[in-house]
Amino acid sequence: MRRIYLLSFSIFIFTGLISYASEQNNTHDWKAGTSRVIITPEQNMWMAGYGRGRPSEGTLHDLWAKALALEDADGNRGVLVTTDILGFSKCVSDRIRDRLKEKYDLPRSRIILNSSHTHTGPVLKDALYDLYPLNEEELKKIDYYSGILENKIVALVGEALSSMKPVKVYSNNGVVRFQINRRNNNEALVTKQTNIDLKGPNDYAVPVIKVENQEGNLLAVAFGYACHPTVLSFYNWSGDYPGFAQLELEKLHPGVTAMFFQGGGADMNPVPRRSVELAQQYGRELAAAVDRVLKEEMKELSPRLVTAYDEIELSLTGLPDAETLSEMSKNASGYPKRWAGRLLDKLNRGESLMTSYPYPVQLWQIGEQKIVTLGGELVIDYAIRLKQIFGQDLFVLGYSNDVMSYIPSARILREGGYEGISSQIVYGLPGTWEPGIEIKIIQKVLDLANENGIMIPQSSLVQGVR
Ligand SMILES: [Zn+2]
Repeated sequence: MRRIYLLSFSIFIFTGLISYASEQNNTHDWKAGTSRVIITPEQNMWMAGYGRGRPSEGTLHDLWAKALALEDADGNRGVLVTTDILGFSKCVSDRIRDRLKEKYDLPRSRIILNSSHTHTGPVLKDALYDLYPLNEEELKKIDYYSGILENKIVALVGEALSSMKPVKVYSNNGVVRFQINRRNNNEALVTKQTNIDLKGPNDYAVPVIKVENQEGNLLAVAFGYACHPTVLSFYNWSGDYPGFAQLELEKLHPGVTAMFFQGGGADMNPVPRRSVELAQQYGRELAAAVDRVLKEEMKELSPRLVTAYDEIELSLTGLPDAETLSEMSKNASGYPKRWAGRLLDKLNRGESLMTSYPYPVQLWQIGEQKIVTLGGELVIDYAIRLKQIFGQDLFVLGYSNDVMSYIPSARILREGGYEGISSQIVYGLPGTWEPGIEIKIIQKVLDLANENGIMIPQSSLVQGVR
């Protein structure tokens, strides 16, 4: 009798322990929340990315901002925000991130603000103003829209944070090959179907993060690619190929939030281009690559989130003197004339030109998945170099937190051309980047890894930065 009592008591305790353990498991999983908001401008206004002659005229499909909030087993939070815009200017990004800190206690390390770099989105405040012939009325519209966008993103993050549920998180890389290295290939020749000797470097990776609920149903997919969304150059709002890729994935998986982030696509173009059908084709190709990854086995990520962020001062060199600017403001035309005139006015007011810029560098580790995010129009060399150091499964995002200019590698800076030199005027900067830019940025990523206990594979250190 006593033995039976003891046995049933032990069974009771044992079952209790099992149910306690499974509850503990639940509380030791990831939590995630998603949210989305349309950010298509409500009025026609100036479009970003190309030197156009007039404002927008309509909408092909809506522009979106989307958020994925993650919380690890210890309550550490991070929010990825993706947007169908050309790029966040520093003033817009800083204001959003200051408000996120104030409202939700999220420091900059815990927020990624990525822009898809669509060239059929709106101009934001203080972004590439010299490129566009803006009058007072258009400037007012840009200010108004930027304010609305800021409010929407702050609310979007709040919504994602307040909708968190237990989930499982997975990652893996897929591949799709429509990016063409635009510096090293002639676009006219690439559009032919035969006799193409394509030159790199390239990085065809399609990084994918999958979020599933406890029942194994897909809730969200965040995916990337390194390639300019420059299929379209017309006057209708659109997310270009990333917009179509998101639409396609949300059609394949109804109810799912599909989010696109831009990689190091600064020297990559989709070729051939310039039709809605081509933008849709590339969108579907990218969605198919993501869908393949979702269906195959993915790496399940342990519920531990590490986030790190810092800014480094990058120096500008070769600043023009007043005489050069005066000459250019008289003899040049278009955006170089506006650039020279604006800088000359600055000098005439007794102000000095900018000689350095605070550049954002960020490192996340979601379980076993390392993610580097860098500001500006990041060229593919950075993705290749960082993968040599951290391993091929690393995710590299450019166009994050502040898009202040192109970010050339040492090679591209040496070679010159648009991404190395002349695009600095398009972005309104007074000089070109210092020769040590690549080493400085990579070194900062390594420092953030070391300071935050993020492992760097030993084998890669041998061939790492020198
Ligand atoms: Zn660009």
